[in-house]
Amino acid sequence: MFKKILIANRGEIACRIIRTARRMGVATVAVYSDADAGSMHVAMADEAVRIGPAPVTESYLVGERIVAAALETGAQAIHPGYGFLSENPDFVDRVVDAGLVFIGPSAASIRAMGLKDAAKRLMEKAGVPVVPGYHGEAQDIVLLASKATEIGYPVLIKARAGGGGRGMRRVDHPGDFAEALSSARREAKAAFGDDRVLVEKYVEKPRHIEVQVFGDNHGNAVHLFERDCSAQRRHQKVIEEAPAPGMTDEMRAAMTEAAIKAAKAIAYSGAGTIEFIVDASQGLRPDRFWFMEMNTRLQVEHPVTEMITGVDLVEWQLRVAHGEVLPLRQDEIELDGHAFEARLYAEDAARGFLPATGTLHHLWFPDEAAPGTSLRVETGVREGDTISPFYDPMIAKLVVHGPDRKTALDGLGDMLAETEIAGSTVNTAFLAALAADPDFASGDVDTGLIGRKQDELTAIPAPSGAVVAAAVLSASGLSDMANAGDPWSALAGYAHFHATPRRVTLGYGEEVVSAKVGVEAGRTFVELDARDGETLRLLPPSINLARWLGHVSVFDGPVSYTFAVPDPLDRADEAGGGTDSLRAPMPGLVKVVRAAAGDSVTKGQPLLILEAMKMEHSIAAPHDGVIVEIATEGSQVSDGTVLVRFAEQAGE
Ligand code: ADP
Repeated sequence: MFKKILIANRGEIACRIIRTARRMGVATVAVYSDADAGSMHVAMADEAVRIGPAPVTESYLVGERIVAAALETGAQAIHPGYGFLSENPDFVDRVVDAGLVFIGPSAASIRAMGLKDAAKRLMEKAGVPVVPGYHGEAQDIVLLASKATEIGYPVLIKARAGGGGRGMRRVDHPGDFAEALSSARREAKAAFGDDRVLVEKYVEKPRHIEVQVFGDNHGNAVHLFERDCSAQRRHQKVIEEAPAPGMTDEMRAAMTEAAIKAAKAIAYSGAGTIEFIVDASQGLRPDRFWFMEMNTRLQVEHPVTEMITGVDLVEWQLRVAHGEVLPLRQDEIELDGHAFEARLYAEDAARGFLPATGTLHHLWFPDEAAPGTSLRVETGVREGDTISPFYDPMIAKLVVHGPDRKTALDGLGDMLAETEIAGSTVNTAFLAALAADPDFASGDVDTGLIGRKQDELTAIPAPSGAVVAAAVLSASGLSDMANAGDPWSALAGYAHFHATPRRVTLGYGEEVVSAKVGVEAGRTFVELDARDGETLRLLPPSINLARWLGHVSVFDGPVSYTFAVPDPLDRADEAGGGTDSLRAPMPGLVKVVRAAAGDSVTKGQPLLILEAMKMEHSIAAPHDGVIVEIATEGSQVSDGTVLVRFAEQAGE
């Protein structure tokens, strides 16, 4: 076995690879950008090498520096993880040319699957069903349009170099073809420098079912069953599971046989995934699935396969890359139970899944599984770590295994309800709503399910009285006096200090929540000002919450509610009628600052540039005024952070 490997990745996948390597006695080298110097994968690895500044194009995508780091540290092999350089054949060549082993397939295998049209032609030849359509060389519009008519509308135009859904256009009517084609080509040209396309039959209400395959360098190839990844939003997977709900023996035999054919056609070595699109409008039928693409790497959702087979896929990757024969024969790989994986992201589901940033001031994952189930949390962050705008904002993958689908799904629901995260907006409630959705629960999922139910799945109910009461009590400071045990009875002893109720005011989004807290007859109560003028008096229940930097987050099942606890200094400002401020409309990076404290600025004057979602947003002065405070260049801000504070304005 290798003595030392380098992991050309970050976050949860780097940590996950390190764990297996350590168990196998293989030393690990991490690489990191400046933004990741203090991150979990760096702390976990035996050694770590800095490879550049935060942007990926200057660090995690610079193959040359990564290979140099491997040579410097004496690593014998490089594991690419997923994303970044994992499917870049030029990087594989570079690794091999340096005398190192790439833990993954050959550059030739990656190239064979790199372009959608060539891959489809290759698969067709190998006898793998491909989506009906045109994937030839000729590209003139008359030919493509006539092919579309032959295929039958609706059709899908796809960039052959495509990825991430770019250069993809659905066309419903022949009259729209020409325009859709030119727009797909423009997008493809800009994104990939290649405007060649293929035309496919558009499969209505499709399911995405993929097969995990594994090959070695001795001509063997096996499959490790399928995963269903139909729960997608804008072509991104949300909750994955294995096996696929409703899978029949006949369908599985047909799909896995096709997947093995695909892997053998390119002499595939290592872990790979064959993605199929399935027309399940009449149930799962062996003549209704088609090859879509092959991912020539370890997949994000690989843990569900590990949970149902008991195989450590990273261990297999290391063994195969080292030249060993596959550890198990096909007939030795068994499917046991059912597993789900939910991708927990720092994002605002209710606002179009806007990526979020922030510091994870409170982070807690459940560790106790219900009897018969087991849990696994794959994460690359710890409490106190930051989700930066530079990388994918995934916080963790929550994985549950149970003896059957229902038990596993219930386990996932519990896991989501018990997870506590404060400091960034997260999608826990959305994931829980999806897990609880009746169609999802019954296994009736297609790739459009989330889109159709988006409003319902992303709605956050208003905080209950109990939630507000818990926040108010925490902010009042009264709960801090409680020692171990029941805070409500422990407070009794302090009754005489608080004979007069205290008023507590909190911010909840744009709203102000106000309440009185007091102690009466030895029991603490919270009196909420209801909107209709009534008051709601209640004894707060015991509920989990976290206090952090001017906020309190209350966890009500999978939904977390964050209240701002006003800083007494801020209030003094307000009392003086003093300042007003400009807040960040979204999380991002303060790229350029064009003014300084003390400057007099005029309405409309650009003050700073915020980079968010890979775009630059110019922030201008909303009115004339004098700047008291302005954000620092290079700082990362979360949604709502004060960017500019203005001095008191005369005459308003
Ligand atoms: P990309 O490489 O850009 O991600 P894919 O070919 O992998 O593109 O397709 C992405 C997603 O688009 C699939 O998971 C599926 O949801 C949808 N899709 C792809 N091909 C078709 C098709 N022929 N009919 C309907 N939906 C499709």
